Amino acid sequence: MAELIIKDLHVSVNDIEILKGIDLTVRSNERHALMGPNGNGKSTLLQAIMGNPKYIVTKGSITFDGQDVLSMEVDERSKVGLFLGMQYPSEISGVTNSDFLRSAINARREKPISLFKFIKEMDKAIKQLDMKPDLAHRFLNDGFSGGEKKRNEIVQMMMLKPQIAMLDEIDSGLDVDALRIVSDAINECQKENGMGLLIVSHYARFYDYLKPTHAHILVDGKIVLSSDASLVEKVDTMGYEWIEQELNITL
Ligand code: ADP
Ligand code: MG
Ligand code: MG
Repeated sequence: MAELIIKDLHVSVNDIEILKGIDLTVRSNERHALMGPNGNGKSTLLQAIMGNPKYIVTKGSITFDGQDVLSMEVDERSKVGLFLGMQYPSEISGVTNSDFLRSAINARREKPISLFKFIKEMDKAIKQLDMKPDLAHRFLNDGFSGGEKKRNEIVQMMMLKPQIAMLDEIDSGLDVDALRIVSDAINECQKENGMGLLIVSHYARFYDYLKPTHAHILVDGKIVLSSDASLVEKVDTMGYEWIEQELNITL
């Protein structure tokens, strides 16, 4: 069983403290919904866990199965089984999708994956996400539509089979059918691998598909409320303002 433990995490960007003491544990088979008004640090938390060097950890700890994550490079974090599906995936010209994925997969294995197995798995993922068959041979995210980029993040997740996957607004920009396709793929991958999920989204519809076991609200760099999926419904119907009154804080 995998266990990602975050303790008293403080993170600064450009010398401004964005995260002000986050405590969160995500284990295999748990599905955590992370919500909160815009600009309060959700993406910052995910970027800091994955090791984006712009996000400076000034205090606290992150461990994965007892190993110190903060001392790992980004590729080591990927190797131990962490994955981030990004809000704004970057375009990389000159590297094809399949080259990128094969080297990412091989970096985590003793022996390289056979070409046959790789192609089979990639075809399966591409079909499952209802993407164009030439996807494998196109440069990574180059000229992809917003929706295609998001689906491509899920193709990567399915191929890399992480132990803990973090998805940052992966549902934004998806139409109703695409949302269902992406959700089904995430669910299938989750069940197959017992993956733990940390899901950032604003939309109850996405969470309806993914059935969170836990839900958290992040305000001003702190998790101010944690509960079960009922919290998702409450935010969907009432927004965030009630939190202000209930906790006597200012959003
Ligand atoms: P959320 O994902 O909750 O909308 P973010 O984590 O993206 O919020 O942003 C939290 C705060 O940190 C914002 O004030 C944002 O401007 C700042 N911030 C985040 N990332 C960067 C960055 N790469 N450069 C400058 N400021 C950033
Ligand atoms: Mg703020
Ligand atoms: Mg964000």
